This record gives sequence, C-alpha cells and structure tokens, in this order.
Amino acid sequence: MEQAKKRGELYALLNMAAQRAYARGIQTGSGGNLSARDVEAGQMIVKASGGSFADCTSEGEGFVVTKLGGERICETDPKPTREVVLHGMLYTLLPMIGGVMHCHSPWAVAYAYRHDVLPMTTQHVKLKLGHDIPILNVDSPMLLAEHVPLVRQLFEENPKLTAFILRGHGVVAIGKDIIEAEHTAELVEETAQIASLREILDHKA
Ligand SMILES: [Zn+2]
Repeated sequence: MEQAKKRGELYALLNMAAQRAYARGIQTGSGGNLSARDVEAGQMIVKASGGSFADCTSEGEGFVVTKLGGERICETDPKPTREVVLHGMLYTLLPMIGGVMHCHSPWAVAYAYRHDVLPMTTQHVKLKLGHDIPILNVDSPMLLAEHVPLVRQLFEENPKLTAFILRGHGVVAIGKDIIEAEHTAELVEETAQIASLREILDHKA
C-alpha cells in the first residue's frame, strides 16, 4: 500500500515535469525523456518509447517501470525510451539523485554546435548551478554503453555537476527529484539563449 502511494506521487511529479517542459517548449513532439528513481524498489520510472511529454498523465500513462539496467518489470508494458541506458547509468553512478530530464531544447543545442562549454553567463546561473555546463561529443541519437565512461569522467571531474549538453542532440539535467531536474533543464536553456543573443549583439556592435 505504501509502495503504491509512493509510486502515485512519483507519477504525479513526472507528469508535472513533462507538462512544464512541453509548455515551456524545451521539448516538442515525441522527443526527449524523463525519469524518477523509486528508491525503495531500486527501480526507475521512465518515459515509454515514442510518446510525447504532452500525453503523459499523473496516473502513469506514458511511463514504464524498469530496473536500472533498463529491463521492464512487466513484460507486457510498453518499451522504455531508447535513452534508458542514460537514465540507468546516472542513477547507478549518482546515488543521491532522484530525477533525470533529457530534452532537445533548441537554444542549448544550437549553442553547443559552436562551443565546447556553456559558461555561467548570468548571475542566476552562477547562483543556482555554480558551474559551467560541459558539452559532450556523442555521435549517436542515444547514449550507448560505450559512452558511459565519457559521462562518468564528467562527474569525476566535477562531482557537483547538475547538467551537461550532448552536441547536436540535447540537454541532460539531474536533480534530487524530477522537478529539480526539470528546473535545471529550463535554466540551461535560458542560459544558452542569453549567451547566444549576447554573441549576436556583440557581433553587431
Ligand atoms: Zn534525445
């Protein structure tokens, strides 16, 4: 009973984060994915493959429960997102986190084509994140097992890291829960937009 209540709370938070990200436009269509860790069960709840953030519900539609390795708990459930490796490796690597947001937010993706790092452009990002946002080269539409050491190295270099960008792809943000991770993803997008606009204006000056 307690487990069902906890699961229901996680679905509500996941849905809130998915709807916020969609409304904010940091994810459109059927791209992106998000997850929450079920600490007691040692499992994660991830977005199902192919669905849209907009179609998720607080009753758990659009999500699937898996082990941290990505295997479904119930074989008849829909398949998890193809990014399930990314989510599982982050929960395994970072025991303190409870949520992961991955989205294809346009300013962050655009900025990352021409830079190796997104700097702390504003006072707000300095205050909230306190670190530059690294940009990783992963030449694949999804993180594969062979890319795991690259991500692990990022967190070894900065254990307080809360987000990174995959070049040509999207943002990955983590948090103590999925709401915090979603807020960080929004902040990365805002920072990338301001950094991009600043460069455009500097160029015209
Ligand atoms: Zn993606």
